[in-house]
Amino acid sequence: MLLFLLFISLFIVTACSWALWQSWQHRLQDVSVQARNQALSLSRQAQDTFLQVSIALDEIARQADAVYSRPEAYSGRHGILAGLSLPLPQLGGLYVYDKEGNWLATSRDMAFKQMNNADRDSFIWHRDHADPGVHIGQVIRSRSAEELVIPVSLRLNDAEGNFRGVALGSVKVAFFRQFYGWYEQSPGDMLALMNTEGILLYARPFPDSVLNRSLSSSPLFTRLLSQSRIGSSTWESRLDGEERLFGYARLERYPLVTAVGYETQAMRYAWWKSNNTGISINIFTWLLVLLFGFLVLRQLRASQRSQQALMHTQDELTRLNGTLSDLAMLDGLTGLGNRRQFDFYLEMSLRGAASPVSLIMFDVDYFKRYNDEYGHIAGDRCLQEVAAVLKHLPLRSTDRVTRYGGEEFAIILPGTHARDAEKVAHRALEAIRRAALPHEASELPEKIVTLSAGISASPPGETPDALKLAADQALYMAKKAGRNCIAGSDGLCLL
Ligand code: GH3
Ligand code: MG
Ligand code: MG
Repeated sequence: MLLFLLFISLFIVTACSWALWQSWQHRLQDVSVQARNQALSLSRQAQDTFLQVSIALDEIARQADAVYSRPEAYSGRHGILAGLSLPLPQLGGLYVYDKEGNWLATSRDMAFKQMNNADRDSFIWHRDHADPGVHIGQVIRSRSAEELVIPVSLRLNDAEGNFRGVALGSVKVAFFRQFYGWYEQSPGDMLALMNTEGILLYARPFPDSVLNRSLSSSPLFTRLLSQSRIGSSTWESRLDGEERLFGYARLERYPLVTAVGYETQAMRYAWWKSNNTGISINIFTWLLVLLFGFLVLRQLRASQRSQQALMHTQDELTRLNGTLSDLAMLDGLTGLGNRRQFDFYLEMSLRGAASPVSLIMFDVDYFKRYNDEYGHIAGDRCLQEVAAVLKHLPLRSTDRVTRYGGEEFAIILPGTHARDAEKVAHRALEAIRRAALPHEASELPEKIVTLSAGISASPPGETPDALKLAADQALYMAKKAGRNCIAGSDGLCLL
């Protein structure tokens, strides 16, 4: 039962743990697929956002000569640059700087002529690199609109390919804030836009103070991006140290990366919430099985104990019964079988016997005189000694010595012919003589205790009474012949 309980417990615990582990793995897989898809959709949005600006900048580069010769036509709220930026809600403004960094034209309706952008990273980068592609810079605070923007710029060249200036579009961080704000998120989850060097361009739900922070030590930049462009993995965010399951995607056209992170602790909590009813039911079932098992076990133990007690009592009774029946079959004075045992054993021996049963009846000679001479107590002791001598005769295990009554003894010899019985009787008389118990009142010259014996042997089918009568008659003959001798059924004194 204990083994069974142990097995059931092990089975339930293993099965539940396995099911829970499986469910957690599925959950992780679902969330990582979701994170990857979401990161991919953010990357598409970012790519479209920057591509549109890049197209506008290309258009400015195409019209560069006109911009440099007639900057007024391009500037202001009704200028050509404003026309280009109009359909692009992400744009803070379009700007063109000459090779010294002075503002040449802008889509914004302001007088900027006096402003110089030669100190901006994007300007310096284009001035020093002949790269014809767009450059996406770190987040800056726009000088014209006092808002956070991501500068997207393009180098302008003259006909000889020399640096002529920079065309720049400022993408509003607020545009990403608004777009990312549409996604439903738990408080610990995050969305982020970074460049491939690990500089944070926007992150929801973090404050603007984290922008431009370097996350280059994150596994995303040290390891994962070099392995695959799109993927998912779990790591501790470098922004707040929280562990999240991230999905990430690098843009195809631009050196930008988007990432979506789900807080693992919140995931665990949500998973636990959706599974705790099942877990509770399983634990409850397990406890119920244990309780039931222990109750059965206790019941089993109790019934086993009562069964043992019953068996013990039965054994005791059997033993007691045996003792009682032994006592009922024994003679108190001599310890030999008593008359009841004699009758029982004779009957048993004769019943269905296939071979003859012999009976020897002994009688102590002149015993009345012995009593008279030595007293009854000495008489009793004498009977005990005669019994001890008879008991120690070398007999077969089936032979039985009993006290028939008074100073008379009997030996029942199953499967024994009269001839062999005579030998036994002979040995008995001899042994008594050798014991030489003094009997001064005896008529016999030896003056010791002697026995007379009568033998009868039954053919199969004889009754106990017939056998007893024959032995008794033989004994009478032995007495008559002078005692201290053995007589057979033919009346002949043999000793
Ligand atoms: P016989 O040689 O013819 O057998 O003479 P006997 O005196 O032995 O025979 P009798 O039948 O006249 O006497 C038997 C005596 O045995 C009578 C009785 O007092 C005595 N006796 C019988 N049972 C006991 C007993 O348990 N203890 C004692 N001390 N004496 C007993
Ligand atoms: Mg007698
Ligand atoms: Mg006698």
